[in-house]
Amino acid sequence: MLIVPERDIADLITRKAAFDAVEKVFAAMASGAAYNFPVVRESLGHEDALYGFKGGFDRAGLMLGLKAGGYWPNNLEKRGLINHQSTVFLFDPDTGKPTAMVGGNLLTALRTAAASAVSIKHLARPDASVIGMIGAGHQATFQLRAALEQRPFEKVIGWNYHPEMLPNIEKIAAEAGLCFEAVDLPGMGEADVIISITSAFAPSLMADHVSSGTHIACMGTDTKGKQEVEAALLARARVFTDEVMQSITIGEAQHAVAQGLLAESDIVRLGSVINGSDQGRTSDTQITLFDGTGVGLQDLAVAAAVVDLAVENGLAIEVDF
Ligand code: NAD
Repeated sequence: MLIVPERDIADLITRKAAFDAVEKVFAAMASGAAYNFPVVRESLGHEDALYGFKGGFDRAGLMLGLKAGGYWPNNLEKRGLINHQSTVFLFDPDTGKPTAMVGGNLLTALRTAAASAVSIKHLARPDASVIGMIGAGHQATFQLRAALEQRPFEKVIGWNYHPEMLPNIEKIAAEAGLCFEAVDLPGMGEADVIISITSAFAPSLMADHVSSGTHIACMGTDTKGKQEVEAALLARARVFTDEVMQSITIGEAQHAVAQGLLAESDIVRLGSVINGSDQGRTSDTQITLFDGTGVGLQDLAVAAAVVDLAVENGLAIEVDF
């Protein structure tokens, strides 16, 4: 069995490797070659921690495994550790024997950023030039960096519930040589692409804040009750997702479906667009919306890529198990 510790991940994986792994596994999910297992998420009643498992099996890529982890809100203050903690375990699908244990913290950030980037590649208008960010926390910086590689964006605009955090994304725009402007929510009408990545439980972005032809990647809503955009926006849009069952239960679409504004059958898997079995955006004026809920197969795909890179670079630790 191979171990790739968290400390080595940053030197091994690239944004391109994460993007390719996620794009490929989304396609496998849509073709039926890969499927995600139901998500387990439990409140432990200890240290206020939320803990759970996301797993799946990809018959085409021969990947089987799970990510175990969650959120320990007291870690930073009490122990100097980051609050999000996760580890990916891979197994040999022929025998069930464990093959790898991989640090999952940075990989989670990169695979989440890759998902919205994949949606931009396949759904945003080719001439998109302004990108809008809703959210400016830890994950927002990863989302923006990966998104900027998908189109020749000329400007970044941003809104955040806590405006004092906006310099986090302004810094990423500056790194890419782009100007940044803080806007109010109606100002998002200027954006051709919008990424929302917040922990909100009530909508910020309303249907009339968004212009025709915009692509929106809703990435923050990954739990029952969370919500970033008005449900009516999903009714205005063609809606895509990673995994339909997650989209309607823990994703952004949970609200529009519950309110009867969107049917489960209206939601298209992004992998179908990647495979060419769905045309994706159907006009330059259509609003497209990707509901990125975060699936176990994304974690397995980036972990498997990092194990290969660790072996190539002599950094994988081998243990008898
Ligand atoms: P963070 O704590 O670093 O940042 C939280 C962000 O949410 C900040 O921008 C903050 O200003 C904003 N926010 C907080 N309360 C708000 C409110 N009431 N209204 C609007 N905005 C509010 O967290 P993060 O690591 O950046 O993660 C952001 C979200 O992304 C979390 O909800 C997390 O669960 C989710 N996430 C999703 C995936 C996925 O695969 N879809 C993966 C990782 C994280």
